[in-house]
Amino acid sequence: MQNPRTLKILKALPMKNEKLIACKFGGTSCGNARQIKKIVRIIRSDPRRRCIVVSGPGKEHKRDKKITDLLLALAEDPGSSGIIDIISLRFQKIIDGLGLKIRFQEWLDEALRESELMGQEDKSNFLASRGEYWMAKILAEHIGFEFVDAEEFIAFDRYGKLNLKRTEKNANRIGLREKAVKNGIVVPGFYGKNSAGKIRTFSRGGSNISGSIVADCVEAVLYINWTDVSGVAMADPRIVKNPRIAAVITRAEMGEGSYRGADVLHPETFEPLRRLDIPINVRNTNDPDNPGTMIVGKIGRGQERVPGSVSIIAGKTGFIVITLAKADMNPEIGFLLRACRVMKKFGVNIDHVPGGINTLSIVLEGNIFEKHRQEIINRLQKTCKPDSIDVHKIALVCVVGVSMISVPGVTNRVTGAMANAGINIEVINQGSSQISIILGVREKNYKTTVRAIYAEFAK
Ligand code: ASP
Repeated sequence: MQNPRTLKILKALPMKNEKLIACKFGGTSCGNARQIKKIVRIIRSDPRRRCIVVSGPGKEHKRDKKITDLLLALAEDPGSSGIIDIISLRFQKIIDGLGLKIRFQEWLDEALRESELMGQEDKSNFLASRGEYWMAKILAEHIGFEFVDAEEFIAFDRYGKLNLKRTEKNANRIGLREKAVKNGIVVPGFYGKNSAGKIRTFSRGGSNISGSIVADCVEAVLYINWTDVSGVAMADPRIVKNPRIAAVITRAEMGEGSYRGADVLHPETFEPLRRLDIPINVRNTNDPDNPGTMIVGKIGRGQERVPGSVSIIAGKTGFIVITLAKADMNPEIGFLLRACRVMKKFGVNIDHVPGGINTLSIVLEGNIFEKHRQEIINRLQKTCKPDSIDVHKIALVCVVGVSMISVPGVTNRVTGAMANAGINIEVINQGSSQISIILGVREKNYKTTVRAIYAEFAK
């Protein structure tokens, strides 16, 4: 049923120029009926907030599992009555708390029946997507907006990558914008359909991408990403106490920061917003009056920062440096190519490749490497014939800021702060875009590095 207040406002608005705001609510915002009542208030407080994307329910209590994790476990063991009961209870509690008359067990049974004959990959994608699917149906019914299934327009190619052009066409075909203007829409996040007609999910945290896609497809003027923090912090709050929250940062900075470990937004959130230059506003469902952080294409007038300032200090542990040493490596053509081929063969993502005259270091993500550690080392021995190979773990810390571009002395401040904290830099890398400086340090020095750099730039 349409909310009468919204209906009245809608009748007064011309459809073509209607300004729409896309809102995505994350797992903690959808964790229980109390949180969902908060998001209903947020939606109703502005008649332009009519394109809603939801995550599946996250944890209600610390010891809970996220619904997506439970569904993935269920895909591995579809007969597990323990998991089925937990999922059923969590959803039924939400439904009852909102005063709806839905019998959740019937929805769950139907999904299990539908997935019965699927192969493991299809089953796992399909079941994982149901948390968002059910949540969107519940919210749509509760607020009287139209439920639009993501599988009707979000298109993946056969390699599992988003096909944005096709997605935009599909959205036009089904009249997504018109539906949003007329009825308001609720779309489940996290998944779409591939060219073979199978449900496919994004990687974890992917509802943020769905939010951007919906914002793009309905030509929203703004995408508000409602989460459980009041904006984008300059450093991880688990490492730095009460870090500064940025009022405004750029999409390029946030893209780099997310890729490097700032986990507020999925790194693929930004691409769909580029065509129309749609800004993102990161805000807190539990503190809705806080303006949060605006993420924009370009820093506007009056938002300029001090030259040389830093926006985000992100980072991750779990990287590996493989250092190959060989006398007379430099004149040998094809050494780097052979080393990279080994990584490609095992599906290992290379981060960057610093080197010296007779050494080459390959910095890479550790998780896939560890699965094939010995085979990779053997193959490098065989194809590159180095004099020695050293392998050890490192953490990468990334200092991000568009205001660092063309400002002399920023790296000096970064390395100076690290030197004062007694930290040795193992690798250092700055791309020609000059928007980020990446530092590799021993894992035990990771947190101290983040704190030292933060202290230098937050003063
Ligand atoms: N529910 C999915 C996850 O837990 C997607 C999301 O919340 O963004 O990763």
